[in-house]
Amino acid sequence: MRKRLLAANWKMHKTPQQAADFVHAFLPLVKNTDNEVVLCPAALSVAATVEALKGSNIAVGCQNIHWEKDGAYTGEISAEMIVASGCTHVIIGHSERRQYFGETDERVNKKLKFALEAGLTPIVCVGELLEEHEAGIADDVLRRQCSIAFRSISGAKAAKLVMAYEPVWAIGTGKTATPHIAASAHETIRQEAADALGRDVADKMRILYGGSVKPENAASLLDEPEVDGALVGGASLDPQSFAAIVNCVK
Ligand code: PEP
Repeated sequence: MRKRLLAANWKMHKTPQQAADFVHAFLPLVKNTDNEVVLCPAALSVAATVEALKGSNIAVGCQNIHWEKDGAYTGEISAEMIVASGCTHVIIGHSERRQYFGETDERVNKKLKFALEAGLTPIVCVGELLEEHEAGIADDVLRRQCSIAFRSISGAKAAKLVMAYEPVWAIGTGKTATPHIAASAHETIRQEAADALGRDVADKMRILYGGSVKPENAASLLDEPEVDGALVGGASLDPQSFAAIVNCVK
């Protein structure tokens, strides 16, 4: 049985004060959950989020990581900084980073290696564009994204790896994949993981669904055995709404 993981991606929202205010409202609402919960604030709000969560079992993640240990990379954040700031998770390869910041499959692979080496739990996002979905090539896209992401990574190192299937046509659009579409994509991702990392790692690996998850549709998606949790953008900005998603799965 894979432990459910509900991750909030706050993107470029919430100042440090707003992040702390969210945590204070959110904690009492999720005090009975057994699910793993992680909040991923913008980098400058990580410290305030970590501080506000002290004493709880809710984790904090970063939204990006650089693929070098350190160096002349203005504006970037290293694995060491992420760990030292109290984060345990990191999102890699989000479609917004692929679309607006030139994140390639090869970079995702380099970042993933650094994150695993640093002991972080990476949440690697993959997913097809609308035109790829309509052309019926979603599976090919997922296979390519996964096989490059997993390149030269050993099964032994990949134990913490979490994948997120995020069809780009469903992110922030209000359109959601059906549980059937999500399950079939997750099976493709799990098969790629089995080929590259071994069956055992693949069977234990959590695969989250992301794309317009809301309190109203979360239960039907999370009821699907292949869906091990959710990566939530818009609906994670409000404590009541994200708590309702966290609490809809026991
Ligand atoms: C996301 O940002 O990863 C995401 C899934 O966003 P939304 O829930 O708003 O579609």
